[in-house]
Amino acid sequence: MATATTQRTGSGPARPAEAGLSIVVPVFNEAAGLPAFHNNLVEAARRLRGARGLAVEVIYVDDGSRDETFAVAGALPAEALDVQVVSLSRNFGKEAALMAGLDHARLGAVLFMDGDGQHPPTMIDTLVGHWLDGGYDVVYTAKAHRENEPRLRRLGVRTFYGLINWGARQKIPADAGDFRLLSPRAAAALRRLPERNRFFKGLASWIGFRQMRVDYEPAERRHGSTSWNLYSLIGLSIEGLTSFSVAPLRLASLLGLLLAVVAFVFGCVILFETVFYGKSVAGYPSVIVGLMVLGGVQLIMIGVVGEYIGKILSEMKARPVYFVAEHNVKTAQDRTDSAPVRAAE
Ligand code: UDP
Ligand code: MG
Repeated sequence: MATATTQRTGSGPARPAEAGLSIVVPVFNEAAGLPAFHNNLVEAARRLRGARGLAVEVIYVDDGSRDETFAVAGALPAEALDVQVVSLSRNFGKEAALMAGLDHARLGAVLFMDGDGQHPPTMIDTLVGHWLDGGYDVVYTAKAHRENEPRLRRLGVRTFYGLINWGARQKIPADAGDFRLLSPRAAAALRRLPERNRFFKGLASWIGFRQMRVDYEPAERRHGSTSWNLYSLIGLSIEGLTSFSVAPLRLASLLGLLLAVVAFVFGCVILFETVFYGKSVAGYPSVIVGLMVLGGVQLIMIGVVGEYIGKILSEMKARPVYFVAEHNVKTAQDRTDSAPVRAAE
């Protein structure tokens, strides 16, 4: 029944809706919930086609799943929307999977959403509405509130965004998620960013254009469990911070300055007491305390600088962010050309 046409869009079609919409879904061990998720997408695609004449495709990026995700995704019907399945050669992480999806998107606008059902598919209409009717380029969603999260986590999140936005010209909105829509020109801008250490939320905000925030309440995960734990979240935070801002380095300089001032004042006090009161300072404890503080701070700062050197090294090596092992395309006319299109890039 479908009549979807897929075309590469050059610089801006006359009507934005003609650009079409690519939906990028990174999936890692999501086999159990994928068919139900896909049904929702098909519904959404029908609505968009009916209401706005929008061509839709979905790109499932299988991020090296260890379950049947690739087989399940390959068997999903291309009803009302084209289905691409891109299978990465191993688990590269969500950021890499998002980039793989962006690279394979063939239609103009790109929408990113999780494949675990936490991002409500009915919101797609809302995001598309802001793009087509409101003329926004980046429509991002943000958690309406974080009341159900532990206090420590909220504090961590606040510290993270405080640091990353410190002195930044373009602030990254706190609480913004990866569930977002990029207009054709915003997607083109995102593709032009060359860095390998990707922090998607930050980059999508950094490019500018007309940005719009939509609050929503994420659903519970329908099955399986989140692949993030405390350590990987801390890892992502360090990754985001160091690939995005020099705040930690600035903090290091400030701390160094602070210590130097304290040491100077301490020195003056010692001098004063010795000259005017003839008091001798208890030598050993003060020296040890001073040494330990200095040693500790220096080690921390070497670690911070090391993080940045690591970033420089990985950018210098210029390795591809991901490898594609398999790539199937099903067009909505039920013509199945599922021959591998590109083996690797
Ligand atoms: N994901 C991925 N690669 C990974 C980890 C996760 O592609 O290494 C996908 C996962 O399948 C899901 C999305 O990224 O569609 C979000 O993952 P998750 O639900 O674990 O994160 P959370 O929602 O807890 O932030
Ligand atoms: Mg999730």
